[in-house]
Amino acid sequence: MPNLNNLPAAPKHETDPLFSLKEKMEKDTDLPLRKGATRLVFGTGDPKSNMLFIGEGPGYWEDQKGEPFVGNAGKLLDSLLQSIELNRESVYITNVVHHRPPENRDPLPEEIDAYRPYLDAIIEIIKPKIIVTLGRYSMGKFLPGVKITAVHGRSFSINFKDREIVVVPMFHPAAALRNGEVMQQIKADFQKLPGTLSEMKTKIDVKQMELL
Ligand code: URA
Repeated sequence: MPNLNNLPAAPKHETDPLFSLKEKMEKDTDLPLRKGATRLVFGTGDPKSNMLFIGEGPGYWEDQKGEPFVGNAGKLLDSLLQSIELNRESVYITNVVHHRPPENRDPLPEEIDAYRPYLDAIIEIIKPKIIVTLGRYSMGKFLPGVKITAVHGRSFSINFKDREIVVVPMFHPAAALRNGEVMQQIKADFQKLPGTLSEMKTKIDVKQMELL
């Protein structure tokens, strides 16, 4: 009888769909921003989290470290998460584009399109209940044509590949660092997140009971 504990572990790419997706992205020479970037900034956090945060694109520090939101905007994001008793390990964080645009410019529509299949695959793997969009580019993916000033902090139920997800658009943390009023708004919007998540969980529990 073989001792199952002594069997070699399956290679990570066979067991971890995010890992294999990252490997695929690293090899994808068609990604338009890869040439000017130091490294891929794929995403970090808990792949089983109910909450996915989507920013815009890596800046200087993210490009150096290969991790999203590690510069000043990232420090603010950490403290906003802390204010609702979360941290970057308990949520998942990624971006609309996963290589740094030159000179930190805004990503172009065709660049966003090129990275979209990967972002969609990340969403499908994580299966979040809530997506918090940080800034107008990630908001535009789910709520095209709306104004952030009119909708920030509100919950929008969307259908993403046959699953209901609540999208909460928020200002980008970098905008909050530049403007005190935006800072107050993003802080207040974060305070609503725990309530939104528990409402979402209750709704799912009720749906599951209805299926019994
Ligand atoms: N801004 C973003 O939108 N994403 C990052 O990863 C860092 C800064």
